[in-house]
Amino acid sequence: MFKTLSFFVLLILIGFAASFVSDEQGLVTIDWLGYKIEGTVGIFIGFVLGLIIIFYMLFRLVLAIKNAPERIVTANQGWKRQRGYKALTQGMIAVAAGDASEAKRLSLKAEKLLSEPSLTMLLSAQAAQLSGDEKAAGRFFKAMTEEPETRYLGLSGQLRQALEDGDHSNALQLAEEASNLNPKTDTVSSTLFELQIKDKDWKSAGETVRKLEKTKIIKPATSRRHQAILLYLESLNDSEEGKIEKATQKAKKAFTLCPDFTPNIIQYAELLHRSGKRRKAVAVIEESWVINPHPNLVNKLKELVFGAGTEELMRTVEKLSNYNSNHMESHLAIASSAISARMLKEAREHIEAIPEFEKSARACRYMAEIAEVDSSDSNIAKNWLKKAAAADPDPAWICRECKDISENWVPTCSSCEKFDALIWDTPPRITRIVFPEDKKPEESHFFEEGDTMETSKEKTRHNKNN
Ligand SMILES: [Zn+2]
Repeated sequence: MFKTLSFFVLLILIGFAASFVSDEQGLVTIDWLGYKIEGTVGIFIGFVLGLIIIFYMLFRLVLAIKNAPERIVTANQGWKRQRGYKALTQGMIAVAAGDASEAKRLSLKAEKLLSEPSLTMLLSAQAAQLSGDEKAAGRFFKAMTEEPETRYLGLSGQLRQALEDGDHSNALQLAEEASNLNPKTDTVSSTLFELQIKDKDWKSAGETVRKLEKTKIIKPATSRRHQAILLYLESLNDSEEGKIEKATQKAKKAFTLCPDFTPNIIQYAELLHRSGKRRKAVAVIEESWVINPHPNLVNKLKELVFGAGTEELMRTVEKLSNYNSNHMESHLAIASSAISARMLKEAREHIEAIPEFEKSARACRYMAEIAEVDSSDSNIAKNWLKKAAAADPDPAWICRECKDISENWVPTCSSCEKFDALIWDTPPRITRIVFPEDKKPEESHFFEEGDTMETSKEKTRHNKNN
């Protein structure tokens, strides 16, 4: 636009100049090689300008002819690139659609048209994987690790292959490398953490947790809990090896990070007790009771006052319960100790202080124990035991993912292998259906909420087989 405008301005200026010059008087004579040319100044200037324009146009023509091959090559390259990118995109779509042969065809086409391995190697690897050629995919992934811009993708591909092959040590090494290269990616860092947990390398897993928190992949609260669990596991190892001081330091740190993680409270109290710090051990249990009253804490407290009489035990438990006096676990803890100390009135009062206590199997069992001692009518105790059987089961360690029940806390669920999945909760109720005598089926059936008769029969068969 600007060029065209300038050209017209120039033409106008030349026009003005020509008309000015043509109006002027004067004659120009050229005498050259016997030729004599005569004319006005205007004709002469017009002639010179004409010559300049002709030479300029000739010069442009020569330049265009000279640059033509290069221009043709550039245009051809652009066209090839365009087709290459199209093949690459269509190849990715074929991979996503699971079309192995199309993906392979398009990957070869993209490779040929683009000649840029960094762009096409991932598609080639994926196409090879899709057609089941893991060896070829491995070669592409390895080649990708050798280029800085595709190194991470290559490592991720190799990691996936190692995981599928069950090559744990290779997978761990690759995950470490990929995570160091790109710590902000969720998948690789989480895989590294899972592999370290499988390896029971609690220390390295702790470092990964801190990295995951720093890169905002996990929340600070999750990070604190995971770190506490890993320190607790390290503390268990140390105490097994007789390194009591180290074990205590780790349990203390875990307690600071997560004061409601019961297994560690018990470990910390045990270690303090072993170091002769019984009072401090009791204080730790009391501090945790305020946040998370857990029946295992009562058992540990009773161990700490080993040798004490039943009444002294009762007073110790009562003192603990005062730290969270309205909680159901506090009432149940006192009731249990009071029954052992034959303080039945106090035991009954505490059970009856629990809202809807008849829904708790433990409360019903305690009522049966009281009735057995306190009443000559054995039916009262039997009735309470019947109520206990129909009540909600006792709390247990349940996997929040797969609902598997574990007797003791473990770092990974024994069924789904998820880390930190166990929570202390009430398991689903299993009810035995009582049929009238004349309609009694061959087998008794077990029902869970939401079960049909068919699933119930399956469970019954499963129970019988086990
Ligand atoms: Zn599970």
